[in-house]
Amino acid sequence: MLIPPTNPSGMKPFMPGEESRYQSYTLKNLRNIPQIQKISEQRLKDIEIVGQVLPFKTNNYVIEHLIDWQNIPEDPMFILNFSQKEMLQPRHYQKIADLFKKNAPSDEIEKASMEIRWELNPHPAGQKYNIPSLDGLKLKGSQHKYRETVLFFPSQGQTCHAYCTFCFRWPQFVGMKEIKFSMNESNLLVEYIRKHPHVTDLLFTGGDPLIMKTSVLASYIDAVLDEDISHLRTIRIGTKALSYWPYRFVSDDDADDLIALFEKIIRSGRHVAVMAHFNHPRELEPLIAREAIRRIREVGAEIRTQSPLLGHINDKPELWAAMWQRQVELGCIPYYMFVARNTGAQHYFGVTLENAWHIFRDAYKSVSGLARTARGPTMSAYPGKVQMLGVSKVAGEKVFVMRMLQGRNTDHVARPFFAKYDPDATWYTDLKPAFDQDRIFFDLPWACDNSAKD
Ligand SMILES: *Cc1c(COP(=O)(O)O)cnc(C)c1O
Ligand code: SF4
Repeated sequence: MLIPPTNPSGMKPFMPGEESRYQSYTLKNLRNIPQIQKISEQRLKDIEIVGQVLPFKTNNYVIEHLIDWQNIPEDPMFILNFSQKEMLQPRHYQKIADLFKKNAPSDEIEKASMEIRWELNPHPAGQKYNIPSLDGLKLKGSQHKYRETVLFFPSQGQTCHAYCTFCFRWPQFVGMKEIKFSMNESNLLVEYIRKHPHVTDLLFTGGDPLIMKTSVLASYIDAVLDEDISHLRTIRIGTKALSYWPYRFVSDDDADDLIALFEKIIRSGRHVAVMAHFNHPRELEPLIAREAIRRIREVGAEIRTQSPLLGHINDKPELWAAMWQRQVELGCIPYYMFVARNTGAQHYFGVTLENAWHIFRDAYKSVSGLARTARGPTMSAYPGKVQMLGVSKVAGEKVFVMRMLQGRNTDHVARPFFAKYDPDATWYTDLKPAFDQDRIFFDLPWACDNSAKD
């Protein structure tokens, strides 16, 4: 069932020893992309229209090494970075298109796109409500939802080497400041971790924290190591740089420093986990990506992989099986398959829970136990990380079998429960408890207004 390594025509092979200068492309210089000549004018306009609402950014590596330009518009790597008309609801698309047509001033377009953004559930899963506080002071750049793990969003890491069209973090990239997480001060964070002995993991996230120079990342990490907080055992770094800019680990000016930083954490007796986002097996093919993986692992850091299941990009079991298999060969550990969140362009990428389970199961069945470390399909929802275990029949009733892999309430973790069978459900909030005993997993202290949506 495995697909062979892909090497679509038109993709430039990476030459060992090659260095690369980062060139980003946004709406401003979209039309300078050499390969873009292959795209119709209407498609370019679509990118510009959708790009008013959802952020657009790509770079020269993605364009030269990941996208198969012979296969536009279906190419999954193209869809991953380049906005498609259908990613907006027709009425939203039309609103911006009309403003374009009558050459509306930019502030009018900006106002309209902001209104649309607020309709796209910019703040899913009650993220606003996981902000920890210390002596009454809010740690705005962090989230503490599960006892063991604190998420930290360094303010300098609020962008990425390229933007994924599906990303639920999109509000952070388009200047919706009210809901942007970031915190300049590492001091507060260190103090917070010190006072919470249950916290074993610190997860740097973003955006992509590896957009930061190594020296900036090191200043945060040194603060945690120097203070010698012995209960903090693992530093995780959530990143898509292995896919979007693998030079970060190999040939960038401070690539060696980054690897040395990982080594330093490991020498302190802690674990370094690179939480790598890979959405498609093709991202694992370029030699530079493989070299980056090798260098990270060489110093003893581990790479765990995760991705959402996405219509138009990876909604086929063969792709997941190939991706997991390749990851195992390269020494990475498959970790999570997520269900696409109910935000932004979910209507375009979303897969029903029932189909997600079929895809997961077919992929899982066809790989060896080493690749079955992946858990999914998993929803990062308000009450926790909820895994859809499958469809079954209990007491004569067709049900979804579920469990929580993480929970706000730790006591809910790893307890099987049942939801009413619903072939159209795409998210946790579409589900209803199957039996009375299952209510506790649904009747949560809904403290907040937007929680009903996540
Ligand atoms: C996924 C997640 C974590 C980490 O959970 P693990 O299961 O330990 O990987 C921590 N905090 C939040 C908010 C998360 O969504
Ligand atoms: S790299 Fe990660 S944070 Fe950045 S756009 Fe993609 S999914 Fe979102």
